[in-house]
Amino acid sequence: MKFDKVLKTSRFLDPNQGFAETKRYSEVRYDPLTGHSTRILDFPVREVKKVDLTGLIEASRQICPFCPQIVDLVTPKFSPDLASQERYACGEALCVPNAFPYDENVAVTVMAHKHYIPLSEFTHRVMSDAFMCCFAYLEDIALRQPEMVFQSVNWNYMPLAGGSVVHPHLQIAASSSSTNYYAYSLPALARYREERGSDFWVDMVEEEKARGERIIAADGTLSWLVAFAPLGIFDILGVIPDACSPADIRGKVLEDLVSGVLNVLRYIDSLNMQSLNLSLYFHLGSPLFTPHVRICPRVSIPPFETSQINYLGMLHNEAVTILKPEDICTGIKPYWDK
Ligand SMILES: [Zn+2]
Repeated sequence: MKFDKVLKTSRFLDPNQGFAETKRYSEVRYDPLTGHSTRILDFPVREVKKVDLTGLIEASRQICPFCPQIVDLVTPKFSPDLASQERYACGEALCVPNAFPYDENVAVTVMAHKHYIPLSEFTHRVMSDAFMCCFAYLEDIALRQPEMVFQSVNWNYMPLAGGSVVHPHLQIAASSSSTNYYAYSLPALARYREERGSDFWVDMVEEEKARGERIIAADGTLSWLVAFAPLGIFDILGVIPDACSPADIRGKVLEDLVSGVLNVLRYIDSLNMQSLNLSLYFHLGSPLFTPHVRICPRVSIPPFETSQINYLGMLHNEAVTILKPEDICTGIKPYWDK
């Protein structure tokens, strides 16, 4: 398996050194499956300061459609011919149709009664119930609409990550149309199988275990690692080899998934970051596509809250980061031992 990177050196006359020539280094890394490239800059890492969210939390509370006193009145119900339940509930979690759909079957799961939960305060119960609620909906759709093979559970936490409602909620999609992520991954998986005769996910985890630089934990039902060519400032990947569909995420697998996600949230919180994107991907009926989860934190750049997504991300489809995946691995590993 190839973990290709190209080291780049740039030179310029540095005003901070009397215009003497100086060198700067960067890397272009290529994803071992898709070849998708990411830039890693050699730039001094500045500590992110925790933003005071009090104003945002209180202002959003006044107009929140997901707070318990109003959620039943203002959120839609599923049409009876499309789903077996009008709404799906599990503990405090509640799954309802997305009122602003971008596909045939899109829903949101309100995760808990609380309007705001800091990343470090999500509990096993809240996260587990929220996932179970999403899976109940997805399993139902799979039975009734078998062509909806592109299933995913997603999270935009906080406005910085694209969340338009502060109240914690997951986004669920069950579609007959792939996103670009699947469109790039599926042919690459088929090509890998044809060329190597083996499974990409098994080989990738084994290779990362042997290299030891980015593997976080591989002793549970999931293997956790830091992506070699991240899709964000860093990109934590949890591979679920024993599952094919949401219906398989039960018992110990669910427990390990939730524990790992909570570990990632605690690590992101420790860096004073408060926003993230998460996707848990399934492709039903495809033996080559192992379900997996990716989590990327979202930040803005001080002092002007500059977006982390510039022309490279927006128009060249290229992530840029100043954080080396190997350093992130060293930092996050202890959260699996706590
Ligand atoms: Zn609320």
